[in-house]
Amino acid sequence: MPSLCLATLGTRGMSEIAEKKPAKPVVLTCAQPTGRLHLGNYLGAVLNWGRMQDDYDCYFGIVDQHAITVPHVPAQLRDNTYSCLAQYVACGLDPARSHLFAQSHVIGHTELAWILGCLCPLGQLERMTQFKDKAKKQQSVDAGLLFYPVLMAADILLYNAELVPVGDDQRQHLELARDLAEKFNHRYSETFKVPSPFISKVGSRIMSLQDPTAKMSKSDPNQSSTVYVTDRPEEIRKKLMSAVTDSGSEVRPGDDKPGVTNLLAILSACTGRDVPTLTAEFAGKGYGDFKKAVADAVVATLDPVRLRYDELIKDREALNAIFKAGAEKAQATAFRTLSKVNRKVGFVERPR
Ligand code: AMP
Repeated sequence: MPSLCLATLGTRGMSEIAEKKPAKPVVLTCAQPTGRLHLGNYLGAVLNWGRMQDDYDCYFGIVDQHAITVPHVPAQLRDNTYSCLAQYVACGLDPARSHLFAQSHVIGHTELAWILGCLCPLGQLERMTQFKDKAKKQQSVDAGLLFYPVLMAADILLYNAELVPVGDDQRQHLELARDLAEKFNHRYSETFKVPSPFISKVGSRIMSLQDPTAKMSKSDPNQSSTVYVTDRPEEIRKKLMSAVTDSGSEVRPGDDKPGVTNLLAILSACTGRDVPTLTAEFAGKGYGDFKKAVADAVVATLDPVRLRYDELIKDREALNAIFKAGAEKAQATAFRTLSKVNRKVGFVERPR
């Protein structure tokens, strides 16, 4: 290989070398456009994704192709996809620093999924816990539901993501993505980085306001258990003031106080103050004062998010522009991976 002679480079070449920074590790997070984000999603996940944007090359995919693996209403899917984007941006995911895109806008996810599917034993897919759970709830099961984890592997490997923030329910799927990356590399030569789960050092597990032994969830039938990022201040206050607390009146964390422990975790995450400090501050005060402080802190945290969301959701043009920019960047990466993969598999190069 010819060595690079600095003397022969003009000033442009010199400045390009000076500016070339080491590539940041790629992080990919995908979420289905299933509706509204709640306080647990925000404090436990999205807030951390926002904090990663300076240190990592972040791809945030809204995976609409996954959303059709279960029965859905098309108009609702479209609305939810816009709403999901608006919520992400309102929560701090920044289209100027990261790539926010819809999966169906990028050619490559399904193409790579097909190739990976041809390396994936059927039995491994049939053993997936989430497939078994979802299949049980349906009268007839489509192949798409079985193939879902292969599509997820393609989502990750298409961008050569090194780190993938995953909740517990997705760990098995990430394992499959790792297996498929290794299998492809072994069969065709080194191509994919083997992705690792990204475990955040900070991030709270937020529990239901009505049953603090269960995780806060959008599917909770009792909707006063769940605060949404788009809730109005009155709704937030109502839900927090009626949150279940524990016997006694002391504000402190403990196994015997799951309700208070959860509210302390929420207050701590919203104010950035640690639980021992907050416990000392509320010594001698009752649950009423404490809950009011939690409600104030949650309103202060979520109000800017809701205001930004209300603005964005009305502006389809702005949302389409974000999708367009995200898809262009994602597509460039996806095409690079796909052409490499196609060549290694033995496909004839597409005539130009
Ligand atoms: P889901 O709403 O289950 O699709 O989860 C989206 C992301 O939010 C995942 O990273 C979850 O781990 C996280 N998450 C969901 N519910 C909670 C919760 N109650 N507390 C903390 N994090 C949560």
